[in-house]
Amino acid sequence: MFLIDRELAADAQAGGCPTCGGRLHSARYPRKPRGGPEDLGPAYDWRLSFCCDHEGCRRRTTPPSVRYLGRRVYLGAVVVLVTAMRAGITPVRAQRLYVVLGVNVRTLKRWRSWWRTSFVTTAFWRAVQGRFMPPVMVDTLPASLRDRFGGPDDRAALLRLLRFLCPLSTTSVRLEASLAMASQDPQRMRLVSPPPRS
Ligand SMILES: [Zn+2]
Repeated sequence: MFLIDRELAADAQAGGCPTCGGRLHSARYPRKPRGGPEDLGPAYDWRLSFCCDHEGCRRRTTPPSVRYLGRRVYLGAVVVLVTAMRAGITPVRAQRLYVVLGVNVRTLKRWRSWWRTSFVTTAFWRAVQGRFMPPVMVDTLPASLRDRFGGPDDRAALLRLLRFLCPLSTTSVRLEASLAMASQDPQRMRLVSPPPRS
């Protein structure tokens, strides 16, 4: 996933400062994701980010990320995996997740409700939900969304989903640009129909 983030960051840097067009210098910042295994490595200690070198602008640009989902500090993958559990939160499963990830039942429940209440009100979701036919069931999010990207044991499908969710991870990149980027994924174009004409 770090490789995808580097690729997204390179795209953002090549585009220059969105405000003034100035050159972008690396200004990554420490951001240790919680909810991941202990041995993720030093690459996971930093969120990639850039700073404009133009005097009087100096704006920060933070490219989208598949590792961090929004302001939430948990790894995007963990958020998706854990909340996509179809069978719900059984005590045994919750205990195992607590041991492996240090995530308790209350947090799990918060994640699930985040998908069903907050996620569905984001500008991102409002912009893209019409592309899914039939519509994605809100009651079973995020599993219902994940299913549109491939089978339950398909690692590549998870990455496609995380890429798709990328625009949620930053406010620096304009939503339309991110959506255009996402729609270049040929695999996804097979799964997602174009927005209905109104
Ligand atoms: Zn600038």
